Amino acid sequence: MPLIVTGSIGIDSVHAPTGTATDVLGGSSIYFAAAASFFGPVRLVGAVGEDFPDHFLETFNHFAVDLEGLERRAGSKTFRWTGRYHENMNERDTLEVHLNVLAEALPPIPEAYRDSQYIFLANTDPGSQAQLLDSFPDRRLAVADTMDLWIDTQKSQLLALLERIDGLVLNDAEAIMLTGATNLVQAAEVIVAMGPRFVVIKKGEHGSLLVHEDGHLALPAFPVRNVVDPTGAGDSFAGGMMGYLAAADDISIRTLRTAMAYGTIIASFNIESFSLDRMKQITRDDLDRRFEGFRAMLEL
Ligand code: AMP
Repeated sequence: MPLIVTGSIGIDSVHAPTGTATDVLGGSSIYFAAAASFFGPVRLVGAVGEDFPDHFLETFNHFAVDLEGLERRAGSKTFRWTGRYHENMNERDTLEVHLNVLAEALPPIPEAYRDSQYIFLANTDPGSQAQLLDSFPDRRLAVADTMDLWIDTQKSQLLALLERIDGLVLNDAEAIMLTGATNLVQAAEVIVAMGPRFVVIKKGEHGSLLVHEDGHLALPAFPVRNVVDPTGAGDSFAGGMMGYLAAADDISIRTLRTAMAYGTIIASFNIESFSLDRMKQITRDDLDRRFEGFRAMLEL
């Protein structure tokens, strides 16, 4: 079933103990779309500015991402983000963020996208997320991601969005920040009481936690020795999860569990290099092989 995403499309600079990548392709919807495309086609809605390098578009030759909804806006500048990872690679500081075109209106949604059933609102301002949602009243599943900046600056818009979505994906620190809870299970339950039917809390190298009205699941991360750049781990996790659900066209908790495992696997590949470099090299077979290894590891 057709899957659509909106979120940031950015020019990132990343400083990590493993090296530095300057002015590389990034953004929440980019990592999401690339990861989801291993399971089926993905539609992307978003805007970039005049400064968006042409060669970034070549990256999409590797992924089945429909770019009809991507606008290059004259007179605007692309979203930019710069981050620095701590020695442990689990924590990072945002050094600079320039919203630029992200603070402007979303581009129009192409007519051909109207039958989208699976909607993912990747990290961007909650107003743009709500606008995408408004365009799909007959959707099957709507899931959103959010982050500290929006919890800080646009909490009321975010709370309004939570009442309208089926699922929320966010990291551990953000779940605590949003709810004020002291433990993650409690935080997830508070969020479920705010509207969505399920919450997935991402815990970096410690895996993920699902709290769903039909049950719970805690999954470890796939153990990766060679972590180069964790940027986009959360977005690629969400892309794998939503891509799997849309391809299965099944939103039961049973399928959601497998979808989370695929999200875990694609994120484990993504962090093995900067930007989308590792995802560009792999195939669905590579994903399936690592998935089987993950399943074998968990046989209890
Ligand atoms: P993740 O590591 O999964 O949190 O995703 C990192 C990506 O999110 C980077 O490629 C950034 O360009 C993008 N990003 C960083 N801050 C924001 C923000 N406030 N809103 C939307 N996207 C962001």
